[in-house]
Amino acid sequence: MSPSIAIIGGGPCGLTLARLLERKGIDYVVYERDESDASVRRGGSLDIHAGTGQLALKEAGLFDEFLKYARYEDTVFRIANQQGERVFQPPEGGRRDAPEIDRIQLRQILLDSIPSEKIRWNHVLKSVTTDKDGHHILEFTNGASVSGFKLVVGADGAWSKVRASITQAKPKYSGNHYIESRINPGNPYHPTMVSKVGAGSLACLGSSKEIITQRQGDGSYRIYLGITVPEDFVRGGTVDLTDTESTRQLFLSSEFFEDWADELKDMIRHSEDFRPWSLYYMPPEAMSWKPVAGLTLAGDAAHVATPNGEGVNCAMADALSLATKIAAHGTDDIDRAVIEYEEDMFERAVEHINDGLKLGALMRHKDGPVALISFFKTAMEHAAKSS
Ligand SMILES: Cc1cc2nc3c(=O)[nH]c(=O)nc-3n(C[C@H](O)[C@H](O)[C@H](O)COP(=O)(O)OP(=O)(O)OC[C@H]3O[C@@H](n4cnc5c(N)ncnc54)[C@H](O)[C@@H]3O)c2cc1C
Repeated sequence: MSPSIAIIGGGPCGLTLARLLERKGIDYVVYERDESDASVRRGGSLDIHAGTGQLALKEAGLFDEFLKYARYEDTVFRIANQQGERVFQPPEGGRRDAPEIDRIQLRQILLDSIPSEKIRWNHVLKSVTTDKDGHHILEFTNGASVSGFKLVVGADGAWSKVRASITQAKPKYSGNHYIESRINPGNPYHPTMVSKVGAGSLACLGSSKEIITQRQGDGSYRIYLGITVPEDFVRGGTVDLTDTESTRQLFLSSEFFEDWADELKDMIRHSEDFRPWSLYYMPPEAMSWKPVAGLTLAGDAAHVATPNGEGVNCAMADALSLATKIAAHGTDDIDRAVIEYEEDMFERAVEHINDGLKLGALMRHKDGPVALISFFKTAMEHAAKSS
């Protein structure tokens, strides 16, 4: 007998859903691409918001465990211009009820809360096919083939293999990349980062480019270089990110950050371990599809968006919504649960995608930080009036 629910993907969305189903006594299995729980995931620190990510962790009975790792001190946020001058800091230094946690720690908390036999590692979904009776068959690259589920949840991220069975929509390239790199505690420049940047995040904006720094749980810094480049900038060979020195030289050149402050260029001069993050988003108008019996999408698989600090929170909110609906309707009426979940998810998704596009335009405004600062000030005035 197959469990009732197959979850494809053991990211924040899939594992939160698994944990919530576990608590509700609903049978499930997770199929994950990674070879084991030791695989290191990419991506840095995540801020977990009160009404979404934190709520899901509370419902999952994991909030106290989360608090052991949560870093409230790293919620501080500042904006600088390309001369490195700090031009804006929200009240309280930007401190918010959105503590940071490293992705790897969040994953471990979730993994520790689920029986290990419920996760099938090294299962890369190749495709979902549907037989003449409407049963969905999962085919994996390791040759495994399974079926018999009442529901298959695609929580397999931006490049979901489940998505094509539900919608023709695909993520669109935004025109922008972040190039991620690190300054680890052993790096000679690390003490300067500690004294000049300190806790939290610093966003340096100018001439439609960004240098963003974010302190991680181990004290290291991630650096994100925000640039507008063709979709195949990395894949097409314009830059070889494995060649650290030539990558640094390219970003220090007149094509990118040459006319930025030396203090900021020093971050590039000392950056290591460059990785690409090409920014895609699902078209907001695609956030509505005809329900497909026995299949749904959640998290980035449903609604990958350009960065706005909500991606992981939205993914965990999806998991909470779906688990709640399944528990309310029972697995015998699971398609009804999915219809209600998708209505709720579409609304959240459209807002999330549009927010990402709007924030991206403000961050990469040709006049530097002015537009983003004015946006923050207006939002603060609204918040003050409504409180
Ligand atoms: C560099 C970087 C920085 C980010 N920073 C932030 C941030 O600060 N705040 C924020 O809110 N969001 C951030 N995001 C976005 C956030 O990480 C995502 O929105 C969030 O992880 C979505 O969770 P998910 O579980 O839906 O998808 P994912 O995290 O992508 O997880 C998908 C899972 O599915 C697995 N998988 C994929 N394909 C298959 C397959 N074919 N078969 C089986 N398994 C598969 C993957 O291995 C993975 O475990 C960042 C993303 C990146 C890349």
